[in-house]
Amino acid sequence: NKQVVLKNFVVGFPKESDMDIVEGTITLKVPEDSSDVLLKNLYLSCDPYMRLLMTKEEDLSLGVVTYTLHSPLTGNGVSEVVESRDPDYEKGDLVYGMTKWEEYSLIPSSQILFKIVHTDVPLSYYTGILGMPGLTAYGGFFDVSSPKKGDNVFVSAAAGAVGQLVGQFAKLSGCYVVGSAGSKEKVDLLKNKLGFDEAFNYKEEPDLNAALKRYFREGIDIYFENVGGKTLDTVLPNMRLHGRIPVCGMISQYNLTQPEGVTNLAHLIFKRVKMEGFNVNDFCHLFPKFLEFALPLIREGKVVYVEDIVEGLENAPAALVGLYTGANVGKQVVVVAHE
Ligand code: NDP
Repeated sequence: NKQVVLKNFVVGFPKESDMDIVEGTITLKVPEDSSDVLLKNLYLSCDPYMRLLMTKEEDLSLGVVTYTLHSPLTGNGVSEVVESRDPDYEKGDLVYGMTKWEEYSLIPSSQILFKIVHTDVPLSYYTGILGMPGLTAYGGFFDVSSPKKGDNVFVSAAAGAVGQLVGQFAKLSGCYVVGSAGSKEKVDLLKNKLGFDEAFNYKEEPDLNAALKRYFREGIDIYFENVGGKTLDTVLPNMRLHGRIPVCGMISQYNLTQPEGVTNLAHLIFKRVKMEGFNVNDFCHLFPKFLEFALPLIREGKVVYVEDIVEGLENAPAALVGLYTGANVGKQVVVVAHE
């Protein structure tokens, strides 16, 4: 049972060598009196928050349980049930939920988030548009930022798993949308495939403030925050009266031992801006409604989803590490086995 385990706690940027590929053993049998389900893992999701769980617990102070050394990483994935004693699951069921970075996993059935019933869309979509990132974009945009037709929306990390959806949801809501991303390829994708009105490569903008002024002459109504740090600081004075900043993530800060300071917070007062952090777990109750919303959009081609698919569990560490340098174009997925 091939596994990806954490070799050492991470300080600074994660490296492939912080993880090891090992050959673990697993009994391919569910113990008699257990509620565990034996899963064959098919698709694993690489998500930015995983870096935080690679930190030593006492150094993190976020009140979350971090990874255990020499044990497989955990994360969301799509799996096939091989054996189950829980009557809700049977052999052959496809499920999505928390699993481990290994070929086969024994996990408590309570960890399964849902059984996959709509299989006319790519199965990998359940790690992205139809899974955690999709629900994040849906709840963060519609619930937290209260969009209105005509709003000016700025999205950072716009070509990623969450950002590409926020931009498309904003367009469907009649907003003007600009995205920032870290390469020409991503900018082209945002403008030509994902329907953003404008996009720019923040790595090549010598003056982010000037870029924001160029695209938002009248200011920003909604800033969907994915990166934090200097980007947030530069956006704040560019917000419009009664603007909203749904704070989804701050990936630029996850690898810093000393987080960057944000100096322009007073603009929240001057402009009466509402800035609100959220966690995707807050939106679990919206999931059925979200599926009803997203499935027809996918089927009718009204929303597209870009994935960056890597084959083989042995390539998972590089894929995960690549999130923090922007190597991924779209949702980063690892194929462990094909269904
Ligand atoms: P992505 O697929 O967007 O991958 C991460 C991207 O972040 C990279 O491709 C890179 O794109 C960009 N990035 C990396 N480092 C930096 C940096 N220093 N400065 C600016 N951009 C950087 O990830 P997700 O869409 O899955 O996640 C986006 C954000 O949403 C993250 O902050 C994540 O933590 C957060 N999140 C929060 C959730 C919640 O419940 N609140 C749930 C899910 C995600 P580029 O080439 O453009 O630099």
